[in-house]
Amino acid sequence: MSIKAYAAMAAGQKLERFEYDPGVLGPNEIEVAVEYCGICHSDIHVIDNDWMGSTYPLIPGHEVVGTVSRAGAHVTCVKIGERVGIGWECDSCGTCEWCRQGEENNCPENRATCVGHYGGFAQALRCDERFAFPLPAALASENAAPLLCGGITVYSPFRLYGVKPQDRVGVVGIGGLGHFALQFARAFGSHVTAISTSPSKVDEAKHLGAHEFVLGSDPEALKALRGKLDFILVTAFAPLDWPTYMAMLRPHGRLCFVGAVLQPLTVSVFDLMFGQKSVCGSVIGGRAMIAEMLTFAARQNIQAMIEVMPMEKCNEAVAKVRNNQARYRMVLKN
Ligand code: NAP
Ligand code: ZN
Repeated sequence: MSIKAYAAMAAGQKLERFEYDPGVLGPNEIEVAVEYCGICHSDIHVIDNDWMGSTYPLIPGHEVVGTVSRAGAHVTCVKIGERVGIGWECDSCGTCEWCRQGEENNCPENRATCVGHYGGFAQALRCDERFAFPLPAALASENAAPLLCGGITVYSPFRLYGVKPQDRVGVVGIGGLGHFALQFARAFGSHVTAISTSPSKVDEAKHLGAHEFVLGSDPEALKALRGKLDFILVTAFAPLDWPTYMAMLRPHGRLCFVGAVLQPLTVSVFDLMFGQKSVCGSVIGGRAMIAEMLTFAARQNIQAMIEVMPMEKCNEAVAKVRNNQARYRMVLKN
């Protein structure tokens, strides 16, 4: 039995029709018939081999919602016919200290869904049963798919670093991740500032939860935020003027990176000492955090703003993400 998919055959190439034989289903593996797959900017990075670890043919896609269609002999977590979501991680060792404490995202052997493994721009994909998450009924499949990577990536650092209702949160870059960050930070009760290079996003950013909108390309507007924020979540992946962002932090403030900025940071030690500030980062989230995030999103009515396109138009959809034209997540439908 083969699986029909779309794959990049080399770095930066357009996606082409591609079929593969997934082989024998492992005892703890499941196969999921893909209904919807969101497009995260990480898909673009791996198509382009920006992180130097891509292997080709590369089938992108790691924000999947679908139905379990096959289950290995030892599978107990999910049932055939059940609706599940799959995110960036499709397997981990399950036994290291990080897996045992529910931080599978920090497992040294964690496995990405679409790097060295065939992803969700396909009819079906496989994963270890532990990385398929049953979805709360209140979440519509197409709006829930982007939560599996975009949602957890911004929810997890807010929880990990203890963002509080009295905090003032800045979100840099209002794309797929950023538009979730505005919603989660607002639901946590924080004061929310959107920092965006796109003036056209002001109304939507406010609708999504921002109390204030600041134009990231206006140095004077950025300077006016000096000493005003407790937690800045950077979802943009471009090198920005980091000392200006450090200066926005109040004492104990954190500049937290989830956007994959390739260039090294230069931060003055004095900016860390005075005010006891820190720079930190975060990567997706563990299984327990994903389940918690899905419950929280369902209860708080947090969902992706999406544009749905048929899977056959994946190249058109990828181009919209590349060109910062997605409002705010492109989602492919089978
Ligand atoms: P996206 O939808 O393309 O959004 C990125 C946003 O960054 C854009 O909408 C834009 O927002 C801003 N931006 C783009 N170019 C910029 C520039 N030159 N200067 C300043 N801002 C710029 O991407 P995404 O899916 O949210 O992903 C964002 C990043 O997070 C990617 O690098 C992705 O690989 C990474 N990521 C990391 C994790 C993790 O676990 N840490 C997980 C998922 C994704 P404005 O128009 O508002 O300026
Ligand atoms: Zn992603």
